Amino acid sequence: MAPLLATIEHAVKKPVWDCRMCGQCVLHSTGFTCPMTCPKTLRNGPCGGVREDGSCEVDPSMTCVWLKAYGRARRLPGHLGDGVDELRPPVDNRLQGTSSWVNLATGRDRALPDGWRAAAEAAEATGAAEAAPTGPAAVEVPR
Ligand code: SF4
Repeated sequence: MAPLLATIEHAVKKPVWDCRMCGQCVLHSTGFTCPMTCPKTLRNGPCGGVREDGSCEVDPSMTCVWLKAYGRARRLPGHLGDGVDELRPPVDNRLQGTSSWVNLATGRDRALPDGWRAAAEAAEATGAAEAAPTGPAAVEVPR
């Protein structure tokens, strides 16, 4: 059943979002921009390598995925774009190729890697998580 759902998910999401089947979908918090299309597959961004014109340092022919994500999130109605400022955990590469729908239903997509969980607990204990920097609110988004 899970492989069938993965096939269906890929068929639906590949043409729309260029889905790479990471198994942990975060489209809801990235302005419906797939972060796995970033050449560095960063789950938070933009990185320090974004160029002045908004293009990617790895592939200058493309606009930074994270500039697109912030721009799209800002244009979403209501609170739909609010999640873009969330600090997302690193992608769990063990889920590559699996269905994010199945992983959402089972909670597998929210199982943090050990190192990240320890850091999150430490940050929560000290209140550092609330002081953590958020997204690049002042970045100009190229059209
Ligand atoms: S975040 Fe993952 S599951 Fe969601 S569209 Fe991108 S590759 Fe696919």
